[in-house]
Amino acid sequence: MEKPAFLDRDRPDVPDLVVPGGVTPFYLAGRPVRGRLVRLGVLADTLLTRHDHPAPVTRLAGKALALVAALASALKFQGSFSLQMKGDGPVSMLVADCTNTGALRFYARTDDEALAALLEETPKPTDRELLGNGYMALTVDQGPEMDRHQGIVEIAGDDLSAMAMHYFASSEQHACWIMLACQMTDAGWRAGGLILERIAGEGGSHVVEDEAAEASWETATILAGTLSTKELLDDSLPTLQLLHRLFHEEDLHVSQPRALAFGCRCSRARLANVLETFPQDDLDHMCQDDGNIVMTCEFCNVDFRFARKNIATQAQ
Ligand SMILES: [Zn+2]
Repeated sequence: MEKPAFLDRDRPDVPDLVVPGGVTPFYLAGRPVRGRLVRLGVLADTLLTRHDHPAPVTRLAGKALALVAALASALKFQGSFSLQMKGDGPVSMLVADCTNTGALRFYARTDDEALAALLEETPKPTDRELLGNGYMALTVDQGPEMDRHQGIVEIAGDDLSAMAMHYFASSEQHACWIMLACQMTDAGWRAGGLILERIAGEGGSHVVEDEAAEASWETATILAGTLSTKELLDDSLPTLQLLHRLFHEEDLHVSQPRALAFGCRCSRARLANVLETFPQDDLDHMCQDDGNIVMTCEFCNVDFRFARKNIATQAQ
């Protein structure tokens, strides 16, 4: 016997996966530098393989996940922090978000014909070739009661790291150094990132740039630039060891690491509410031969089935 809808309002099973220490914040004492090292570990594979995108799109999505994880962990907020990229390329829309508790999700909308044509011509396209011209937005959403904070800039640069650095250079007025990586490894898909932020020095209301501070920032970015993708994505290389290798001469202080998790917030109840707003004709059109309407969450790719007849009665 079919379970009544009111007992079946929860989400179907999706991986209950938490990666402790996914984000490791750190700072370099006495220097105008703070940073975060992000490693999604097995979470990258779990999130990315729920979608059936060609490898270049998967790599872009993995980097987007690492970016939102890094940026969200630098903010004090309750809610979700999201990256949205919208352009005229074969990947027409890319959304990745991370909550204040480290729950991650993404979706990419692709024009499959245009994507196939691009990949035929350029098997390893840049992120820019995938996205085309358009804009990127970063949004902090703290729920309906609070103002949404949003910054939007044009997409500039060849890869997502450069696009994000351009964002900070043009909209947030503080220097950032960003490396993002996502690759298929022997252990599956892995994604990660290293972000350095230039912060005001102690007592720092002065605009006058201290030469020593400038030199410290330069040194930190040069050291960060020696991190290889292979090291970043290697599960067997402990994060502390990696940070120590990069910054041990720069008075490295590591703060409390934060967890990342599989984080879709879809629910049967929420999708049912959406369906109830549709006109009867649309519902009939969506109905399959078996009498069900299937709604698929575009983030976690889970199918939710609703009996058409139940929605009809609710909508009247
Ligand atoms: Zn979902």
